[in-house]
Parts: sequence; C-alpha cells; structure tokens
Amino acid sequence: MKKENNYVQLASANSEAIREYNERILSALTLIGGILAMLPLLAAPFSDTKIDAIPAYLLVAAFFFTLFLIFKISYMKKYTLGGLYICFSIAFLLAIYLSVIHSPDMRATVLLGAFCIMPLCFIDRPARMNLFAAFWLIVHTILAFYLKPLYALDDTINCLIFAILGCYIGNIIVWVRLEGYEAHRLLIIEKETDVLTGLFNRRKLFETLAVLETTRAEKPSGILMIDIDYFKEYNDTYGHAAGDKCLNHLGQVFSKFSREYRLYFYRYGGEEFVVMAYGYDQEELLSIAESLRTTVESTDMDGHHTTISIGVAYCGQEKVRNYERIIDRADKAVYASKHAGRNKVISS
Ligand code: GH3
Ligand code: MG
Ligand code: MG
Repeated sequence: MKKENNYVQLASANSEAIREYNERILSALTLIGGILAMLPLLAAPFSDTKIDAIPAYLLVAAFFFTLFLIFKISYMKKYTLGGLYICFSIAFLLAIYLSVIHSPDMRATVLLGAFCIMPLCFIDRPARMNLFAAFWLIVHTILAFYLKPLYALDDTINCLIFAILGCYIGNIIVWVRLEGYEAHRLLIIEKETDVLTGLFNRRKLFETLAVLETTRAEKPSGILMIDIDYFKEYNDTYGHAAGDKCLNHLGQVFSKFSREYRLYFYRYGGEEFVVMAYGYDQEELLSIAESLRTTVESTDMDGHHTTISIGVAYCGQEKVRNYERIIDRADKAVYASKHAGRNKVISS
C-alpha cells in the first residue's frame, strides 16, 4: 500500500515526463508492431502454416497502423495509456489466436514473447500492468484447456513463468524510470530556485526571457520590479540573519500571490525581484501590485515590518518585444517610487 502511494506521488510529480515517454512508446510500438505483423507474409510462400494465418496478421497490421495514425491526432494524446493497453490487447489476441485456434497442435510461442515484453514497454501502475498480464493469462489458460488440452498445462506453466519474469523485471524498470525522472525534476528545481526565498532565481529569469524571445510561447502582459525599502537599515538594525528571515517571509508572501494570480516571481538581485504577469490589463496589473504592496506592509516578519516599492511596466499589445527594455522601464518606475517616498506602486 505504501509503495502504491509512493507510486501515485512520484507519478503525479513526473506526469509530464511519463506522458512524453508513453506517447513515444505508443507511436513506436504501433508502427513497429504494424511492420512486424506484415513480416510473416515474407515466409508465406514457403510455409503452409503462415499462409493460413495471413488474414489475422493483416488484420493486426491494419489495427496497428490505424492506432499509429489515430494517436498522431493531438486530441488523442490524453488517451495514450488506453492506446497502449489496446495495442497490447491486440498483440495478446493475435498470440492467443495463434496458440489455441491456428496451431493448437503446438506449444504457444508468440504468446510467451507478449507476456515478457508487455511489462517492459511502458509506464503505468505496476499493479495495473500485472493485472493486465494476469487477465490474458487466464483467458489463454481457459481457452487452452478447451481447445488444446494436450498442451494446455505446458502452455500455462510456460506463460506463467514468462509473465512473472516479465512483470517482475517490468515493475523494477518502472521504478527505476520513475526515480530517474524524480532525480532529474529535483535537479531542475534546484537549478532554478533561489534557496533563501524559494522563488525562481535570476538564471531561470534569463532562461524564461530567452524562451520568450525565440518561441511563440505566451507573452507576459506586464513586468513588475520590486525593491525592499531601507533594507540596509533593516539589516543594520535587526542583524543580517533577521534580514535573511525577512527575505524568506517575502518569498512566502510572493509564492502565495503566484498561486492566486498568474504571476511568476524571480529573485533578480539581493533584495530586488522581477515579476512576470500573464493575462492582465494595465488596470488589473496596478491593482494586483497595490494588493501586493499592502500585503507586504501588513505582514509580520518575526515582530518586524518592512515595505516594498513596486515599478509596473505594462507590455501592451506589441508582438515582438525587447524584454530587457521592459524590465528597465519597471526598474525606472521603482526609482520613481523611491523618490516619491517609497512604499508605492508606480507605473512607467
Ligand atoms: P532603498 O529603500 O533605497 O532600496 O534602500 P535599501 O537600503 O534597500 O538600499 P538597496 O536597495 O541598495 O539595498 C541593498 C541592501 O540589501 C544591501 C544589503 O545589505 C541588503 N541585501 C542584499 N541581499 C541580501 C541578502 O541576501 N540578505 C540580507 N540579509 N541582506 C541583503
Ligand atoms: Mg536594491
Ligand atoms: Mg532596497
């Protein structure tokens, strides 16, 4: 149960990486599966047994190619996991048909491969993957005892061995992949996060700006610059450690705002922050900035209080923008706020 909970946590934290991986696998499996299902056609002229099974192989190839095309549609991406189970259901159906209907006088072969490969291919809850394998094992066993009683016991034992091995190694692989994704995710967070405030750091800001300038990613509607008022004095009065604590408190206030509004906070310098705001008009930006200012003003910082000056630069509707210039505008607005007595929101 604990492991299952761990899986749910890890999988939801890394859902994007898992989704991308499963999408790639589904695309490759349906294409390769379609091609492989056509390979027996090459043997058909030399093998009687293959000729009889040609309609089944062709049908399976057609299913695989159809699935390949269907899952190229972006709307279908959210059903990738379902697509993978359908893909393997088709493979199991073919393998069971070959075992119990087409060649009941032989031990199952393709089926063993299916039991071995399925759990290794994609990422889902290990319990569900094991259940899926168990389901097809039961289906084949029941049919085998009816339709090929001579080999039913042999087949069942062989399938069981391959299913257990496949699921055991497959489950390990799922965990290894999840742990790999988690390590990568934590590394990215560490790389992009400022330790003192928990906000994005300057490196992340520059990465974001580069992405904005080179892609068609959504553009911010405004940029805010924040500077703490008289912070040197705060340090001098209460000590540097209290100053650090204050930065940490501010980080929490800003994080709360970033959950309530579409705002991304970056620690730009020592006690300066840049905020990218998405989807707000000029008036809304000013009112959010004002609410930020008053919230900070009234926040208790271990018995102390501080204020911030905010410069607001509205981006307007321009398509191509020089974001450094917009940050510069916000910076100038902060200076204007300082000159106007601090603890103010000023728009550039
Ligand atoms: P102003 O109202 O004009 O902004 O006055 P100020 O004293 O805040 O001046 P300035 O913006 O130049 O403040 C810089 C100060 O911020 C200097 C430094 O002591 C403090 N500071 C910068 N980074 C840190 C930090 O990581 N921890 C602490 N405790 N203080 C920092
Ligand atoms: Mg400053
Ligand atoms: Mg300052």
